[in-house]
Amino acid sequence: MSEFDLIRHHFSRIGSQRADVALGVGDDCALLRVPQGYELAASIDTLVAGVHFLSDCDPEGLGHKSLAVGLSDLAAVGAEPAWATLALTLPDADAAWLDAFSLGFDRLARSYGIALVGGDMTRGPLTITVQIQGLVPAATAILRRGARPGDLVCVSGTLGDAGLALRLLDAGEAVPEFLRERLERPTPRVELGLALRGTATAMIDLSDGLAADLGHILAASGVGAEIRLPDLPLSRSVRDRLAADPDWGLPLAAGDDYELCFCAPEQKHTQITALAERLGIRVQAIGRVQPETGLRCLLEDGSIWDPGRSGYDHFPDAS
Ligand code: ADP
Ligand code: MG
Repeated sequence: MSEFDLIRHHFSRIGSQRADVALGVGDDCALLRVPQGYELAASIDTLVAGVHFLSDCDPEGLGHKSLAVGLSDLAAVGAEPAWATLALTLPDADAAWLDAFSLGFDRLARSYGIALVGGDMTRGPLTITVQIQGLVPAATAILRRGARPGDLVCVSGTLGDAGLALRLLDAGEAVPEFLRERLERPTPRVELGLALRGTATAMIDLSDGLAADLGHILAASGVGAEIRLPDLPLSRSVRDRLAADPDWGLPLAAGDDYELCFCAPEQKHTQITALAERLGIRVQAIGRVQPETGLRCLLEDGSIWDPGRSGYDHFPDAS
């Protein structure tokens, strides 16, 4: 198959068919219609074999995850998913791998109404870049910079599951199915992000770990926060692990959670609980925004846990 046959065969009809796609895959550009009164939310992420995933990992899961990380960014601003482009760098054109990869990508794209409208294919070390675009009514996107002293700090889902899966894989230990799913097929919290428009004052998705990502909200908002570690939402597996080895870095800094962290005024708490219940997504208040900058993590006895270096840094030596 030529490069063009490969593209036509694997990537010409991926995701939803959308009326706002004037022109999709096949020309030099896609042509997309942004409705009047909306802003275009755009984000891009790259996954590199050996850095973000193991080269021999399940390609269908990889197709899912490479789109899920972008959907998580849209969720974090409260944008509705619309379009994606996909740049693939492949060591070779393995048809079975491409079939599985595109299946994982396609399933997730369809379930969120995303159309794949273009991309690129090159030969080289396995690398996947997905650009994603969504729509948000003008001036309603939830940014990192809106947190106010007194706001509650909330998180969705459970923290540290993907991190624990990776630690078990690294140690050559068996990985329970639930943890493997959390690592390989994260569920982007798109519905929650949309439902929090007009309620959350600030929001971010958790890719690098709560300590680092909440830190970005606090820095952008010029505030600080106190969170209670015993209130962190944890799965049974992570809870058991912490009981054996109280390393709070697992839920706070291992990363790859793809949950949402947001701030909201206390009087919205009942409304948040109701919307979380309606969506069937766990949401937990874990602390409070304070005027003094910095993040303070309180242990059971009220003492402060020192996070040390938190969050994954690709360029730790850069100054
Ligand atoms: P150009 O050289 O003009 O950039 P390409 O030959 O790279 O065009 O791609 C041809 C068409 O196929 C374009 O519309 C492009 O967006 C699309 N395309 C290429 N690779 C992919 C891919 N992996 N997924 C979806 N569409 C793709
Ligand atoms: Mg090209």
